[in-house]
Amino acid sequence: MSFHTPCCGLQGSVTVFKSIDVCMHLYAPDGSYLNQPYAHDPHYLLEKDHLLASAVICPRSVPEVQEIVKLSNQFQIPLWPISIGRNSGYGGAAPRLRGSVVVDLGRHMNRILEVNVEGAYALVEPGVTFKNLHDYLVQHNLRDKLWIDVPDLGGGSVMGNCLERGVGYTPYGDHWMMHCGMEVVLPNGELLRTGMGAMPQPRNPGDKPVRLDEEPGNKCWQLFPYGFGPYNDGLFSQGSVGIVTKMGIWLMPNPGGYQAYLITFPKEEDLHKAVDIIRPLRLNVPTIRHILLDAAVMGKKSDYTSSNEPIDDAGLDAIARKLNLGRWNFYGALYGPEKTRNMLWGIIKEAFSAVEGARFFFPEDIQEYCVLHTRHQTLQGIPTFDELKWLNWVPNGAHLFFSPISKISGDDAMLQYSVTKKRCLEAGLDFIGTFCVGMREMHHIVCIIFDRKDPASRQKAHWLIKTLIADCAAHGWGEYRTHLALMDQIAETYNWNSNVLMRFNETVKNALDPKGILAPGKNGIWPSSYPRQLYKLYG
Ligand code: ADP
Repeated sequence: MSFHTPCCGLQGSVTVFKSIDVCMHLYAPDGSYLNQPYAHDPHYLLEKDHLLASAVICPRSVPEVQEIVKLSNQFQIPLWPISIGRNSGYGGAAPRLRGSVVVDLGRHMNRILEVNVEGAYALVEPGVTFKNLHDYLVQHNLRDKLWIDVPDLGGGSVMGNCLERGVGYTPYGDHWMMHCGMEVVLPNGELLRTGMGAMPQPRNPGDKPVRLDEEPGNKCWQLFPYGFGPYNDGLFSQGSVGIVTKMGIWLMPNPGGYQAYLITFPKEEDLHKAVDIIRPLRLNVPTIRHILLDAAVMGKKSDYTSSNEPIDDAGLDAIARKLNLGRWNFYGALYGPEKTRNMLWGIIKEAFSAVEGARFFFPEDIQEYCVLHTRHQTLQGIPTFDELKWLNWVPNGAHLFFSPISKISGDDAMLQYSVTKKRCLEAGLDFIGTFCVGMREMHHIVCIIFDRKDPASRQKAHWLIKTLIADCAAHGWGEYRTHLALMDQIAETYNWNSNVLMRFNETVKNALDPKGILAPGKNGIWPSSYPRQLYKLYG
């Protein structure tokens, strides 16, 4: 096991884990997406040392994870497990509780344990990134059989993204829905396998005994998620009652043909019509991106304007003309053999032609680099890193995401857009956002970009997101995921029937983790050993 310690917080933790190698991180630079810090959030919204780890510990095996958990119980040390720790815009690798020990699972535990072609699934350890899994398929000549689904950036872990319920853009875009079976170290150090994994795989009399975590899983572990009895996997998603050490993920059988496309809509209010058109078509995770999201991938704010003020309507129209885009840009893809694609394209084109001025493009129609060329990769499960470029919109660009859920309805989309845009302008920031269309709802992702070196800019961003959470709650809209600094506030908005959900979560937390050692404060759930009133960051 290896171990790194920034120099503050828990004095005893280094001695407790003394068989482990240690290094200093506290004043580490903010790094980059691919070289991220482990003890603080590179996109710090509060002071850089506010959400700070006391140490980073890197187990090499499941028994080492179990040992860490047992020691943490003995010495009451809070742990914060991560897989890769990029979690960009939501806190990076940093813990919610200052002084927690970050458990960096991905550094050493990063094997692809199985890719099963017949069953179309993979079994992975925490450190397997989307890029790793894709590369594996390419290296083993499996891309003609199986695809993965990737989020906007390919450097995060399959496991971390799935546990946080992140999304991608193929028909397998809901990552949580596509996971199947987990292995979990519980807060008391015991090892659990969920779903069919709870049923032992029979062994032959001559088989050598193997360590528990190395025992082959049940042959249906990655085929049927539910097993028998209550379905517990949900407790470990955005949760704090287990450290996941293995996870199954379903892969998408190669659809036998593919075509990405872009539809541009010229006017701001076209969002309304476009969303109403999408709903009955039930397309798979297309996105409707605001012009400034694409503009930020293609250049810095200073490339478009010399002003620091939010760009006005005339400015937005000028950028759209310059980039040959619309005020909203719809990126989707057709999957299947040519005949199927042609039929679907006919239906889609006819439906969206109802929006006056809509234009239709395939990637091959555009010569110079454009966002459609990147989406062409992403929508077929090829990891990319281009979307990072929008971070450079402002100097020292940092970001956080505001991610409310919306109905797939023109009225709701327009209202949510106008509520969020109005507050962005009040904060003196540009509205930069996208609607990701899911099975029956949309994840509206507002990218709040600020200058991390400028405290006033950070304060504006913080004011903006706090205000947006309150505004959206007043409309009955809740967020699906959030940055560490906002977890308490958002948890308080899910308060139907006198906060019964939180009381339930706390009961489960206190029962399974009586010392409160695992990720205290995650998603607003505080164990009784850390009273909410003392630790929460809101109200
Ligand atoms: P990414 O791989 O996208 O960089 P992270 O590794 O930062 O994502 O994980 C995001 C969040 O998910 C973490 O902050 C943590 O709360 C949770 N998480 C990640 N991996 C695990 C794990 N193996 N077990 C339990 N929780 C995890």
